[in-house]
Amino acid sequence: MVENADASVDVVANLRAVEARIAEAAGAAGRDPADVSLVAVTKVHGPDRIRPAIEAGHRTFGENRVQEAEGKWPAMRDLSPDIRLHLIGPLQSNKVKAALETFDVIETVDRPKLARRIAGLMDETGRRPDVFVQVNTGAEPQKAGVLPEDADAFVALCRDDLGLPVVGLMCIPPVDEEPSLHFALLAKIAARNGLTGLSMGMSADFEVAVRFGATHVRVGSAIFGERPKPAG
Ligand SMILES: *Cc1c(COP(=O)(O)O)cnc(C)c1O
Repeated sequence: MVENADASVDVVANLRAVEARIAEAAGAAGRDPADVSLVAVTKVHGPDRIRPAIEAGHRTFGENRVQEAEGKWPAMRDLSPDIRLHLIGPLQSNKVKAALETFDVIETVDRPKLARRIAGLMDETGRRPDVFVQVNTGAEPQKAGVLPEDADAFVALCRDDLGLPVVGLMCIPPVDEEPSLHFALLAKIAARNGLTGLSMGMSADFEVAVRFGATHVRVGSAIFGERPKPAG
């Protein structure tokens, strides 16, 4: 967590503006804006920036690190009983137990070992956050996610063999490619697997994602301002 250098960011105005843009994109695509959930991504930001969003009535948030979320969200949850916190970053097997305690949705399930560990700990703890399967639509070697050609089998493993509450698919398109191709691919894989959830679209492309059927857009900087670069 960092101190926010620029205190002038108006989180609530930004939130309303992003909501309006989602509503407009949904309307233009003949979709009900209520079918698109805005996951406000608060990674790196501190309570001073998160609290106004909660006080303005926002309830759905995203964090990319288990440890960071464990530290700051218990106090934020005191502000409202119905916060929904999504894990949108990679999950290591040794953090699964903490993730089940901290998050309401895990968007980044992407390998059999992790899926098995989640299933085992769900049984042990009784905590059952919804899960998304992350798909590496661009087949980028450095990026997390199951490859598109392995997605059907992996969804079957998670949902049918392990009984995970799989609600949809998630992707992060390559930065230098047209995102719509990736959004369309994710939607196609979801449809053929009977999954309705699609977590796709960030600050730069959430309207495109809504046009391609996103049910969850993950928006950080357009609401909370630019993130300070990590030191070092
Ligand atoms: C940080 C992050 C976002 C939000 O990115 P912005 O460009 O700031 O909107 C969305 N998804 C994931 C997985 C992220 O890590």
